[in-house]
Amino acid sequence: MNNPPISGMRLGMRLGMRLGMDVALGEARAAAARGEVPVGAAIIDGTGRVIAARGNEVEAMADAGAHAEMLVLRDAARLLERKFLADCTLSVTLEPCAMCAGAIAAFRVQKLIFGAYDPKSGAVEHGPRVFSHPTTHHKPEIIGGVRDSECSAILQAFFGQLRNA
Ligand SMILES: [Zn+2]
Repeated sequence: MNNPPISGMRLGMRLGMRLGMDVALGEARAAAARGEVPVGAAIIDGTGRVIAARGNEVEAMADAGAHAEMLVLRDAARLLERKFLADCTLSVTLEPCAMCAGAIAAFRVQKLIFGAYDPKSGAVEHGPRVFSHPTTHHKPEIIGGVRDSECSAILQAFFGQLRNA
């Protein structure tokens, strides 16, 4: 093996990134099975540990604000007993909307990884581009389009079923 050695921390972070989207995809599929718009999210800490994972629960909670990101951010802060998630990565299957992007800034998330791009409601690479706005207090490291096709396939299957229902 000629690969350069990877420190335990870096390896943990890499595995954590992979794991985060795996968990988020699982939450998205579970949300679809519950009849929710299938978006899932997970929070991983700096050591690669899954802190929280949630799917969209807008229908179940009758709460238009119950997006997967909002739920998982609150869960993680509650579990870690602190308001900021400065060493955490949020993985989510869809580009966050303006509400969720604002919350990601408020919770000072270190890194945002998202799957499918959302030209209609996304607010990271589209529309208000929350993190590029000069008044944004916190800009996470952002990686978009991670396992894009897997993430969008879940959404397309869900909306395809609705149309054919
Ligand atoms: Zn949202």
